[in-house]
Amino acid sequence: MIRHTLSYAREMDQKDPLRAYRDKFWIPKHQGKDTIYLCGNSLGLQPKETKNAILNELEHWKEYGVEGHFKGKMPWMYYHQFLLEQSANIVGAKKEEVVVMNTLTTNLHLMMVSFYRPNKERYKIIMEGGAFPSDQYAMESQAKWHGFAPEDAIIELTPRDGEYTLRTEDILDVIRKEGDKVALVMLGGVNYYTGQFYDLESITKIGHEVGANVGFDLAHAAGNVPLHLHDWEVDFAVWCSYKYMNSGPGGSSGLFVHEKHGKNPDMPRFAGWWGHDEGERFLMKKGFVPMSGAAGWQLSNAQILSMAAHKVSLDMFQEIGMTQLREKSEKLVAYMERLINELNKEEEKFNIITPKTAKDRGCQLSILTGDGGKALFDFLTENGVIADWREPNVIRVAAVPLYNSFEDVYRFVELLDKFEA
Ligand SMILES: *Cc1c(COP(=O)(O)O)cnc(C)c1O
Repeated sequence: MIRHTLSYAREMDQKDPLRAYRDKFWIPKHQGKDTIYLCGNSLGLQPKETKNAILNELEHWKEYGVEGHFKGKMPWMYYHQFLLEQSANIVGAKKEEVVVMNTLTTNLHLMMVSFYRPNKERYKIIMEGGAFPSDQYAMESQAKWHGFAPEDAIIELTPRDGEYTLRTEDILDVIRKEGDKVALVMLGGVNYYTGQFYDLESITKIGHEVGANVGFDLAHAAGNVPLHLHDWEVDFAVWCSYKYMNSGPGGSSGLFVHEKHGKNPDMPRFAGWWGHDEGERFLMKKGFVPMSGAAGWQLSNAQILSMAAHKVSLDMFQEIGMTQLREKSEKLVAYMERLINELNKEEEKFNIITPKTAKDRGCQLSILTGDGGKALFDFLTENGVIADWREPNVIRVAAVPLYNSFEDVYRFVELLDKFEA
């Protein structure tokens, strides 16, 4: 039984300074009513403004044709610049340290070109065991590409027996132990499966102590948890824009390169014309001269339609700021946890494997279910909850501060309570 009441949840929503933002999104319907959408960690909802933003670019193209690159309020030639300040604020970077381009896994490979430069002695990659598959495949293929056996080159961090998440001390111990064999430490900022937010600052510090590069895949972290990539001296990071950042399926990816590397024109990289010195890009000259900063890693001209969608969401983040978002996020997730734990009072039915402390998680909770897990998940779906099922038995739910309400959380837990295995 949940002791809290629907009226309490509604009162919390009334007090929520961000409550007006829910109306700026399309909430998918189930049998004519709003779904309880708890899947913003997989695909963020569509802002109502997105359609206009894309139509504007189509108009721009219609009106100007190729001249759209230089004409209008937001000429395509400089389009990436219109996304920098907001992106930088989300990940805690300087404007010059970020750029939006390509898609996530592509950018991860491009970053490996620059930051995974193994030799016979120093060639190991430290990553999470059971990382998101794309990251596993990227690391595995990079190791092979350089002539190393993945089983030898890749060191996977795994939780202690009986535990689900990694202890920071254990991560740091592995980095220290592998020492000067480590070429790269590459982790997800927030683990996609458990929702654990790693101590990126300490990991970066110890990684650097052993002489390795340190980079993060922030797919589940960007727009979700507070980040300070510049101050933490992270070497590089990549993220997608379609999860917490609501920019649409397959949306553009963000990239961070710390200024200490970005300012170095000799930094090895794969080059393309959009990374070339802007002043002479259209002179079509021989000899690549990179732009300073992350912009120097751009390959192709900007994907305007997907970036237009991205900008709508980025502007909302800019308006609110990560501090305010995080405040609501912590309250929402703590509320969900409290309600679930009330259901657990008599017997532990729902084992939350996500860390219990706010600083070690974002807004996702991963719930380990018993044998009836899939039936429970199907019950939730039939009753209008959109969540995420991961084999063998985890339900992932994210109450996203931009558009989820305390009432969403209440109704979700009420359904958990109602389910009869
Ligand atoms: C979502 C996600 C991806 C997806 O990569 P794409 O290239 O955008 O398809 C990769 N890695 C992690 C950790 C993710 O969470």
